[in-house]
Amino acid sequence: MAITQQTSPELQEAQQYVNEVYETVKKRNPGESEFHQAVKEILDSLTPVFAKNPKYRNNAILERIVEPERLITFRVPWVDDQGKVQVNRGFRVQFNSAIGPYKGGLRFHPSVNASIIKFLGFEQIFKNSLTGQPIGGGKGGSDFDPKGKSDNEVMKFTQSFMTELSKYIGPDTDVPAGDIGVGAREIGYMFGQYKRLRGGNEAGVLTGKGLTYGGSLTRTEATGYGLVYFTAEMLKTKGESFNGKTVVVSGSGNVSIYAIEKAQELGAKIVACSDSNGYVYDKNGINLATVKRLKEVERKRIKEYVTEHPTAEYFEGCENIWSIPCDIALPCATQNEINEASAKKLVANGVKFVAEGANMPSTLEAIDVYLSNNVYFGPAKAANAGGVAVSALEMAQNSARLAWTFEEVDAKLQTIMKNIYNNSVNAAAEYGHAGNLVVGSNIAGFLKVADTMVAHGVV
Ligand code: NDP
Repeated sequence: MAITQQTSPELQEAQQYVNEVYETVKKRNPGESEFHQAVKEILDSLTPVFAKNPKYRNNAILERIVEPERLITFRVPWVDDQGKVQVNRGFRVQFNSAIGPYKGGLRFHPSVNASIIKFLGFEQIFKNSLTGQPIGGGKGGSDFDPKGKSDNEVMKFTQSFMTELSKYIGPDTDVPAGDIGVGAREIGYMFGQYKRLRGGNEAGVLTGKGLTYGGSLTRTEATGYGLVYFTAEMLKTKGESFNGKTVVVSGSGNVSIYAIEKAQELGAKIVACSDSNGYVYDKNGINLATVKRLKEVERKRIKEYVTEHPTAEYFEGCENIWSIPCDIALPCATQNEINEASAKKLVANGVKFVAEGANMPSTLEAIDVYLSNNVYFGPAKAANAGGVAVSALEMAQNSARLAWTFEEVDAKLQTIMKNIYNNSVNAAAEYGHAGNLVVGSNIAGFLKVADTMVAHGVV
């Protein structure tokens, strides 16, 4: 990604160093394209930091930070409703614990492999640092596909998954949460199994819990709301607001639903959302109550939306959602859902703001398109950090054995998102890339972890 334009000898030397580390990452992790992509995005942004501060290079911070502290893979056997034995693969990457216990969600999706878990875990280090909370970076999941499985099968699988995972996690060591395919139901089953295996009631071992057993108010809404709070700051910088804007949101899961809810509350018109089969376009504005019922209660496909709203249209396939004209695009489904061609369509149709609810939804080429066309771009690790930030607040409430009100948590979330935005803006300006939130958030997230690693010595 052409973020930095090298001029001084220090910058050129730093770029060469960063390239060498990147080449080692590629060699050591062959075929892991998502992981390479995530590392490349961050490393390119950090060049000005290495040019200015030799201590990070002298302490081999970069060489250490790209190597997970550990990657655990395990067999997950379970018995389906037909009595047949099924086998999935489980993962947990404990990437970096410099500033706190490993923290990051669990993803259940057939595409899950070591590359995807490592890209997500790597990103999580910097995202968690940006929140200002004391949490390290981790991620996990399985290639299990919850779609089409009965409740009983989901329970059997999650119990087997937790039986192995429980050996490696704990409230002060590693605290998983949800991600794609892991919501309140799955967290409930996993917490039940952990409690059964370990005894006692270690509430802080998982976040995203139900409200009856230690969950935090606002956690369900946090990533989507946080994304909108962050985007509202971006809009404010340009003298704008959500009011009256046309917005396209991809996905119709946890992040999408609450992004839509908050953006609508702020006066925006959301004209499209999607699932992995296709997207709906509703020129009158998406009816969120219908989406919530279809997706959260009935677990149906987004296609059903048009039977209740006949003026809306359904289109098979996800890619063309980005050809719908909008002022603001909020990709909230999955990685690499906007490629260069889609980004060009967005630009041609007048998009002014793109902020990422999903993790790495834009390819490196798509990001180049935004940056070179004056689209104000909010990268995932800053824009979607609200979820993990409130997870950290859930851990704090569990430790204190307290429960804060919705308003208290929401107010803290708003402050955190504002701070992330301001810190990213300031870091970008300080390192010579004013207005570039990719560079700013990567640097701001990196510095806190790097300084801590220097302080801890070579461990
Ligand atoms: P959900 O499982 O609740 O929803 C995911 C949505 O994206 C669904 O609509 C799903 O459609 C769609 N989707 C999933 N995979 C694909 C795919 N390969 N192609 C097209 N659409 C797809 O997940 P979340 O809302 O929790 O997560 C969405 C994104 O946000 C992920 O990138 C996640 O890592 C990120 N994120 C989530 C956080 C959270 O707190 N939940 C925190 C920070 C980031 P379908 O139903 O058909 O599968």
